[in-house]
Amino acid sequence: MKSISILGSTGSIGCNTLRTVEHLGNFRVVALGAGKNVEKLAGQVIKFKPELVACENAECAEELREKLSDAECRIPEILVGEEGLVAVATHEKAETVVSATVGAVGFVPTLRAIEAGKRIALANKETLVMAGELMTKAARENNAEILPVDSEHNALHQCLRGESVKEVKRLILTASGGPFRTKSKSEIENASRAEALNHPNWKMGDKITIDSATLMNKGLEVIEAKWLFGFEADKISVIVHPQSVVHSMIEMVDGSIIAQLGVTDMKHAIQYALTYPERKENCLDPLDFTKISQLNFESPDFEKFPCLRLAYEALKIGGTMPAVLNAANEIAVQAFLDEKIRLSDIPRIIESVMNEHEAVAVANLEVVLECDLWARERAATSLEKSATAK
Ligand code: NDP
Repeated sequence: MKSISILGSTGSIGCNTLRTVEHLGNFRVVALGAGKNVEKLAGQVIKFKPELVACENAECAEELREKLSDAECRIPEILVGEEGLVAVATHEKAETVVSATVGAVGFVPTLRAIEAGKRIALANKETLVMAGELMTKAARENNAEILPVDSEHNALHQCLRGESVKEVKRLILTASGGPFRTKSKSEIENASRAEALNHPNWKMGDKITIDSATLMNKGLEVIEAKWLFGFEADKISVIVHPQSVVHSMIEMVDGSIIAQLGVTDMKHAIQYALTYPERKENCLDPLDFTKISQLNFESPDFEKFPCLRLAYEALKIGGTMPAVLNAANEIAVQAFLDEKIRLSDIPRIIESVMNEHEAVAVANLEVVLECDLWARERAATSLEKSATAK
């Protein structure tokens, strides 16, 4: 039996991880970390019997205790807030930690898991965007392996297996293009929350779905790819591929392209990260080529989707700029989800915050957290102006 902890167990990736764990049958869940979805968390505790659970605050913890005692379930240790997530991430019995909270909330817990030498199955891309250098340095120093769960990076990881990095010309990340790929600038400007949440291919949490609609998700993935695989921005391309069958590719120096294809189900990538270097049969339907009538590819439109341009710029500037981009994006996306601003305000807010920021080197954790907080405050001020204009 292998032991596993999950940060963000009640989310889309967290639930798919638990389904994968059930399918594999040789993992024991020792700790679960979640936010406010106590109903779902209680069900997971009853089913998987972890030793430790974390939730967002004392109120949630109390509600969880009540639900578990009503169900006559043995009550595990329950902790709250960041301290709780860090305890889940560093649980002494956990060999693998699935990092699947959304946004910056997973940053410190994931870093602590790396420092504790755990194997990280990483979905929470924002943590690498905020401080990729710090995270990868800590991983090297503590022999902590980071295995990507993000389907594109998972695909790249598979493509790069056994290849010499010197012989790889570039990484090619595929992007579905999101729900607004064929829409005009003004249609995007006035898109509703429901339209933006209607992703054509993937069923995911709200934040990443909005990031996919603005193409910020792809921008964050470009930054993530740099840190996971050590390629510079000019060696990481994005190509729009609406069918999402090709999950990503690498181009070799001799012009050969190696791609990973598969069904659009995150359980595939999750299982790969959990069982690596082995491969096991999964519970998914195989990819049926006879049902795929065509595979299309087109260039991304940087003008219609300025978030992608901003992410490349942040990566090229480096230092604390990606953390600033990420924090401003988180604030703007939440404001859009709360229907306070328009979709097109998201890149405007991010750009204005980036323009105010003088990037410095990411010397330590404190520098990142300080910039993250600063950018959140600046974005909040900037969005007040957008909200008034809406
Ligand atoms: P969801 O919104 O579905 O889930 C987010 C999880 O984080 C939930 O368990 C939520 O808890 C928890 N959470 C949120 N805020 C807090 C907090 N303050 N304290 C503790 N826990 C918190 O997101 P996804 O599963 O879609 O995405 C998770 C990560 O994986 C993101 O970084 C995303 O970019 C990445 N990813 C997701 C993919 C997908 O297919 N969904 C694909 C590739 C990457 P609760 O619900 O209990 O409040």
